[in-house]
Amino acid sequence: MLRHSVSPDPGRPQDEIRRLNLGNLLRLVHLGGPLSRSDLGRRMALNRSTILALTADLTAAGLVDEQRPPPAAPPGAAGRAGRPSLVVRPASSRVYVLAFDVAVDRLVAARVALGGEILERRDAVRSRAGADLDTVVGVLAGFGRDLYATADPRSVCVGVAASYCGMIRPADGMVRFGPDMGWVDQAFGTELGKELGLGLPVVVGNEAHLGAVAEHVRGAGTGFENLIYLHGDVGVGGGIVVGGTLLDGEAGYGCELGHMVVNPYDGRPCGCGSRGCLEAEVGERALLDAAGRPPGLIGRAALRDVVADGRRGDPAARAALRRIGDWLGIGVANLINLFNPGVVVFGGMLRDVYPGAAAQVRARIANNVLAVSRDVRLRVSALGDDATLMGAAELGFAGLLADPLGVLARQAG
Ligand SMILES: [Zn+2]
Repeated sequence: MLRHSVSPDPGRPQDEIRRLNLGNLLRLVHLGGPLSRSDLGRRMALNRSTILALTADLTAAGLVDEQRPPPAAPPGAAGRAGRPSLVVRPASSRVYVLAFDVAVDRLVAARVALGGEILERRDAVRSRAGADLDTVVGVLAGFGRDLYATADPRSVCVGVAASYCGMIRPADGMVRFGPDMGWVDQAFGTELGKELGLGLPVVVGNEAHLGAVAEHVRGAGTGFENLIYLHGDVGVGGGIVVGGTLLDGEAGYGCELGHMVVNPYDGRPCGCGSRGCLEAEVGERALLDAAGRPPGLIGRAALRDVVADGRRGDPAARAALRRIGDWLGIGVANLINLFNPGVVVFGGMLRDVYPGAAAQVRARIANNVLAVSRDVRLRVSALGDDATLMGAAELGFAGLLADPLGVLARQAG
């Protein structure tokens, strides 16, 4: 995914090369943790004096700090002459973003440090009560103002971003369609920005897109350039990373893997108005119905009960998980044939469901995927319920990583 350095190019101005290299260096320590100057030089294919100049700029701006490595430094941390190379670390106590996560049944806000550590968080339950823009914005803005006020006054907030469980217009964070909660054209990003009153825009992304990004850079998909992420909530969202880049489509609404039609003739009705979509066959309602649970029973706890019953050997729960696993496998097999991913990651409620359904998914892959593409890892989310929140944090840091000194000067000024 990462172009680690930018070569001199007669057509490219020097200050642009410097800005890109500063961003790439900061991204390396933000995602990879402390790195020695010599490691940075190797990874960015830049010489010692260039790395020195870049780290000096970032240190002066307060974005990284440099330390001698501890005495028991790992191999490779020593310089050529045996002198320990300084270790460059993200300034995680000074630079942070506010990240928000709006899921179907919960609201989360967090202060996330450069480097990815969640410094402080607030959680609330969201009732499944239909369109509730004012409530959601009110709760999140309260959390956000509180997190901002309790931060060290010497620290700098460099971005604000949110994950939302619906289809988002990237330009202004408008929720175009949130099928599970009945949101249509709700100005979520704009309203949250106004209510927060921090003078910072709120960037909003689709939860499954952001989950895919987070798993790619920090989770179960680290090291893979081609990844499929399936996020179960009430429905199923998706994120596809190809060659290190998220596919978002012409207008930002791509990767709706949950609405891939897998069972058009006698499939279950879907919230989108269609029939036999993947999410209609593997979503929360499908599993609860297949397990014979009463129609009024909903929610993550009910779903986890089915998974736990399946683990205990309850025949109805096991049969339900097998049924969901077969449909899930059909969807995953199609995606593997289309994209030849290195890894498929199951997140959200699919993280709970997948272990009980894995045999059917593997059987579908064995039967329906072209032999050349069958070498694929199947993993559950490593970031768990925080995948979407961490994806929002990465969205919040994107501006800083594109122009570290410019963004810091604007925010710190
Ligand atoms: Zn659908």
